[in-house]
Amino acid sequence: MGIQKVMVIGAGQMGSGIAQVCAMNGYEVILHDLKAEFVERGQGTIRKNLMRQVEKGRLPQEEMNRTLSRIKESTDLVNAGDADIIIEAAVENMEIKTQLFAQLDEICKEEAILASNTSSLPITEIAAATKRPEKVIGMHFMNPVPVMKLVEIIKGLATAPEVYQAVEDMAKALNKVPVEVNDFPGFVSNRILMPMINEAIYTLYEGVASKEAIDEVMKLGMNHPMGPLTLADFIGLDTCLYIMETLHEGFGDDKYRPCPLLRKYVKAGWLGKKSKRGFYIYE
Ligand code: NAD
Repeated sequence: MGIQKVMVIGAGQMGSGIAQVCAMNGYEVILHDLKAEFVERGQGTIRKNLMRQVEKGRLPQEEMNRTLSRIKESTDLVNAGDADIIIEAAVENMEIKTQLFAQLDEICKEEAILASNTSSLPITEIAAATKRPEKVIGMHFMNPVPVMKLVEIIKGLATAPEVYQAVEDMAKALNKVPVEVNDFPGFVSNRILMPMINEAIYTLYEGVASKEAIDEVMKLGMNHPMGPLTLADFIGLDTCLYIMETLHEGFGDDKYRPCPLLRKYVKAGWLGKKSKRGFYIYE
């Protein structure tokens, strides 16, 4: 199962990172989003990241140019037609993802793998929107993608072993460390991380301590590289809320109920770093 051409859907935080890492490792990339300005914003992020590496002397200028030349822009899903793998990194919303996968199933060549970078949504349910559930898989990168080593690879109920193998091989070719996980809400990473973040938000909501104090306790006391409220801002508060809702619904257990303060911030459009305001303000 030779993978050469990759379409990345969604040119946001994750999609642009995934496109960058694929292009840096020699894959041909099509970066797709709803509007040209979104794709250009993603390309701009990639250019800025690579430029920083060039300035630090870690990447030759020619390598940066070669990497950028491997990324083509797209706003028409039909461009997925000759891709070997699609890595979907659109918003964390089941309706949007199932609609996309149903369309991709019609557009993509028969042997193409359809992967989702979902943080928590059931791969088996996404796969059921297609007529090729054996070729649907979760490929969960961590943020920021160029820096973080882990890729959680999630097998849906019907995912074929050779599809798992091809995706594991690709993760290794991207210099990542793949970890095999079965399809349960939140997988491993977010089943453990997100309830901790949600509890930190409850701690703030109940006035136990200030946001700075909560982050400081977890940083200095638990040796976490950043506090949970800062991390929530980096992930995106909308994404955090979607994940908590998925855990709540998937397990039917109230211990996963999202904190009302998280809902309030998302309703206000305070989505974290990407909207310049979340628990903290970003200039
Ligand atoms: P984001 O909001 O930064 O980007 C999402 C992008 O998808 C936007 O550019 C949007 O225009 C685009 N999009 C929305 N609907 C689309 C459609 N129908 N077709 C094409 N493009 C569409 O979000 P993000 O943080 O990059 O998250 C993307 C996915 O990655 C989500 O499923 C999220 O759960 C997952 N994820 C996020 C993180 C994180 O830390 N943020 C980590 C791992 C996985």
